[in-house]
Amino acid sequence: MLKVQQSSIVTQVMGNESPPVDTITFLGTAGARFAVTKQVLASGGLWLDLDDTEILIDPGPGCIVQSTKRKLRAEKLSAIIVSHRHLDHSADVNIMIEAMTQGRLKQRGRLFAPADALESEPVIFSYLRDCLDGIEALREGKSYQIGNISFTTPIRHIHPVETYGMIFKTAAHTFSYIADSRYSDDLCRSYAGELLIMNIVLLEAKHYIDHLSVADARHIITELRPKVAILTHFGMTMWQAKPWEIAQRLSQETGIKVLAARDGMKFELSQLDSA
Ligand SMILES: [Zn+2]
Repeated sequence: MLKVQQSSIVTQVMGNESPPVDTITFLGTAGARFAVTKQVLASGGLWLDLDDTEILIDPGPGCIVQSTKRKLRAEKLSAIIVSHRHLDHSADVNIMIEAMTQGRLKQRGRLFAPADALESEPVIFSYLRDCLDGIEALREGKSYQIGNISFTTPIRHIHPVETYGMIFKTAAHTFSYIADSRYSDDLCRSYAGELLIMNIVLLEAKHYIDHLSVADARHIITELRPKVAILTHFGMTMWQAKPWEIAQRLSQETGIKVLAARDGMKFELSQLDSA
């Protein structure tokens, strides 16, 4: 036992083979039209680094700027996943494919997107497709493998275009991402996990907008009871209401640790072990 401890100390001192740290970086936290077009917050999606597999989700406007600024290297990405074709989730997908394939010099990386983002009016340029290692259409209830990571798209969301959230599994952790959606009870049945990331655009629900509100977040957190919930993708009303104060209130009301994402925030999944 002592021997093992000593050798691990030596490894740390030598700086070799430090265990990979699983992280989720929030490239931006703006959501929907107005917060994104005015860039009151940055936008650009989520960058996952899990078990040495890097995955980009929802490369919205500014993804190339935010990722390079944070020294995240697109040529290390194994895949890009687009939850749906709306601009705030897909605007930078072409430039990120170009970066992932090292300016189209290397054939590498995979792309996952709903069929309606790939077919009738594709958001991905045809000249980039041959540079990819594969393109897969997301479907309800399917599972996918990227390197050491698997993910499922449990349900199709209620949203004006074909939209999926995801549940990711790493060797040690499970977390869910509820992309844009109108509230439905299916969300509470489908996204169990230790960590729940939710796109909360609205301070208050509006019947004519297919997005989640703070009241929806409270209900979903209470039903799913993750170890930690992170709110992101804020619309103008959310931003003006100070998301970090809303997160604090939700923590008190639900007894679950709720965080409001910040532009550039890096969440380490090891934090779930002590939550
Ligand atoms: Zn949307």
